[in-house]
Amino acid sequence: VKDRDNFIYCNYLLRIERHLLENYDVEVVYGSDVSDAYYESARVVEISSRQNMKSRLHSLLHEAGHVVLRNEHSRIRFGENFPFMRKRGCSVRGDKKHRADVLREEVMAWEKGRDLASTLGITIDSDAWNKHRQNSLISYMEWF
Ligand SMILES: [Zn+2]
Repeated sequence: VKDRDNFIYCNYLLRIERHLLENYDVEVVYGSDVSDAYYESARVVEISSRQNMKSRLHSLLHEAGHVVLRNEHSRIRFGENFPFMRKRGCSVRGDKKHRADVLREEVMAWEKGRDLASTLGITIDSDAWNKHRQNSLISYMEWF
């Protein structure tokens, strides 16, 4: 069962990787010393391999959500959608208006990721997905 699960998750990850490469020219890299993140200018998504396959899938879908929100064709819309987002990204803690935009993007990236899963025919374990999303959002709320 474990092997079969891993096979399914690898297949899911591959579908997302292919989607990101073909549609956004974004490459996915896994590593034990990286954190889950999308580096817009480098066009790279990094995913930590120190998490189980289900968690990797959720993280990749979330980062893919960021890619969708920030992709070239909707760049102007991104600026309109997130008027308080700083050019230098969201790693710097700005004022409350900026931080509220960071939170909005986080929420939206989870929703976009969920949409992408259905588009790509990826079955999501809703309980685990909801927990992963809430924990991630809570950490941003604490950061706020
Ligand atoms: Zn995020």
